[in-house]
Amino acid sequence: MRKKIVAGNWKMNASKAEAVAIIKNFTVLMKKMSHASPFSKVTIIIAPPFIHIDNVAQLVNRKRIKIAAQNCAVVENGAYTGEISASMLKSINTDYVILGHSERRTYFDETNRVLAKKLDIALMHGLIPIYCCGETLDERKAEKQKEIVQKQITEGLFHLSPKEFSKIVIAYEPVWAIGTGVTATSDQAQEMHAFIRSVITTKYGKAVSDSISILYGGSCNSKNAKELFACEDVDGGLVGGASLKADEFFEIIQSFEPSSLR
Ligand code: PEP
Repeated sequence: MRKKIVAGNWKMNASKAEAVAIIKNFTVLMKKMSHASPFSKVTIIIAPPFIHIDNVAQLVNRKRIKIAAQNCAVVENGAYTGEISASMLKSINTDYVILGHSERRTYFDETNRVLAKKLDIALMHGLIPIYCCGETLDERKAEKQKEIVQKQITEGLFHLSPKEFSKIVIAYEPVWAIGTGVTATSDQAQEMHAFIRSVITTKYGKAVSDSISILYGGSCNSKNAKELFACEDVDGGLVGGASLKADEFFEIIQSFEPSSLR
């Protein structure tokens, strides 16, 4: 049984006061969820901006809510002004790190090669990478989505040993769906998730590919999550904008088919 995960990526949003308010509102909702609820089995991850990680981590129940960073440095430590290293993140008890988000690829020129190095550093320091992949609108129009995603997966991840690979989470995020309000249809999401799993099978075998959680990301909200999460190869969501609203995020967590949560 693969882990079902909902991860909220706050991106570069929220003042300190706003971050505290989101977490307080979310905590009130979470307290209403009994331990017997099937949704208590969902792994919940919140990825605040670096500056809020320590505070958010102290405000939430860490048994229920895991913390992710949105990026980490490609180097260990030293004279790299403005960067935050994987070891620094681990020292404040960060659990996961999002790597290869399309905004990082586009605005900060992060290549698959650089991401492969970040993956290694993250794993070395005990952070679980959530590796993002996905095609642009032009690439989809040219029917190149599979080629692009295969390249991102192969170049970014396939240097890992099977043991290392088994630790990671993948997020398929079509760039044309991120922050646009346009969501992939459940057919489009399922097709790409199944494709990603088949690419993993070719390299690492079926047991490994069957164990990897693949999240969907791109304008996921409480209205469309149910249909997306019902897809066989969709194991949850990486949620941007909707994760900034506690009630919306809470509803998304409850969008899994209860029988899929054991
Ligand atoms: C994201 O930031 O990973 C994302 C999917 O954003 P949004 O949900 O806002 O499209």
